[in-house]
Amino acid sequence: MAVPLFDTTGPVAPLRAALDAAIARVLDGGVYVLGPEVAAFEAEFAAYLGVRHVVGVANGTDAITLALQALGVGPGDEVVVPAFTFYASAEAIPPTGATPVFCDVDPETMCVTAETVRAALTPRTRAVVAVDLFGNVAPIPELRALGVPVVEDAAQAAGARLGARAAGSLGDVATFSFFPSKNLGCFGDGGAIATDDDALAEAARVLRFHGSRDKVTYERIGWNSRLDELQAAILRVLLPSLEAWSEGRRAAAAHYAEAGLGSLASLPVPSGGALPAWHLYVVRHARAVALEAALNAAAVGARGYYRTPLHRQAALAPWAPAGLSLPVTDELARTHLALPISPLLDRAAADEVTAAVRAALAA
Ligand SMILES: *Cc1c(COP(=O)(O)O)cnc(C)c1O
Repeated sequence: MAVPLFDTTGPVAPLRAALDAAIARVLDGGVYVLGPEVAAFEAEFAAYLGVRHVVGVANGTDAITLALQALGVGPGDEVVVPAFTFYASAEAIPPTGATPVFCDVDPETMCVTAETVRAALTPRTRAVVAVDLFGNVAPIPELRALGVPVVEDAAQAAGARLGARAAGSLGDVATFSFFPSKNLGCFGDGGAIATDDDALAEAARVLRFHGSRDKVTYERIGWNSRLDELQAAILRVLLPSLEAWSEGRRAAAAHYAEAGLGSLASLPVPSGGALPAWHLYVVRHARAVALEAALNAAAVGARGYYRTPLHRQAALAPWAPAGLSLPVTDELARTHLALPISPLLDRAAADEVTAAVRAALAA
């Protein structure tokens, strides 16, 4: 039996009638951009996160750029970002005029720590982009204690918690992606900015609409970056399932542990106090590249997402000084491997994946 890396259709199948009704409601309403569905989703997602404001934007990459600009980041500033993350975490920085500065991550949680961020701070540091990688949660309170504003990139962590607080409520400002494969994924592109700061939320609202409050006067160069009504209506149907889906992802991780996968590879480690919402289930193994090929040949989804870390990507070379040493990032780039995960992955599938890993390693 094949086990795919993701299951984007299974979890939403029971919601089909509600989704059809939400889509019909938008078509009947005739308002497609920045209307009642976006306003309602922003309020509902803010309540879920326990923050004062959510601002819907076009995608999770724009969300980071706009959040940084809303914080006042601009030319001459430096923004610290891990080198082991999705490319967009760093790609979003240069459009503000600021300089990305790469830092290392922890070998077990695969997230930044106060120590790895501190090593990259300079007098010009204006912000840190801390990534809740793979649905784990970065130690955001420890980072904020460093005295630098934190943008929490929670694109992979909807449904995760740190203590009693939701991932995406921990930074000075947080950003989300609703790309279809994410934990809370719509049927296209979408993103959001979340914050308790009234002025920051207002700045983000102005930035997403061409730098204008009233649509006739323009106070700064902004962006055209909105969450659209159809996607917001869809997200309103999906949001009430996020808790159950996150429990399902944690149950899937428990199935892997009970299946004995931990005797074959290093299993992902929750950061201190975190209740992860495993977006990707990423193990570590010295022969990860060979294992990836063998599993795919056996129809078991497996993928190394960040084999070339950000400080070695051609487009980011201008911000990767010669001699920059990020040993943990380089090690994880070689050894990480994402295995199948979904809210519905059951013990039988975990047994099958584990058996395939055992067979591949014995070959
Ligand atoms: C997906 C993702 C983004 C970008 O989100 P898009 O909606 O695809 O623009 C940013 N950061 C991380 C960590 C992501 O996983």
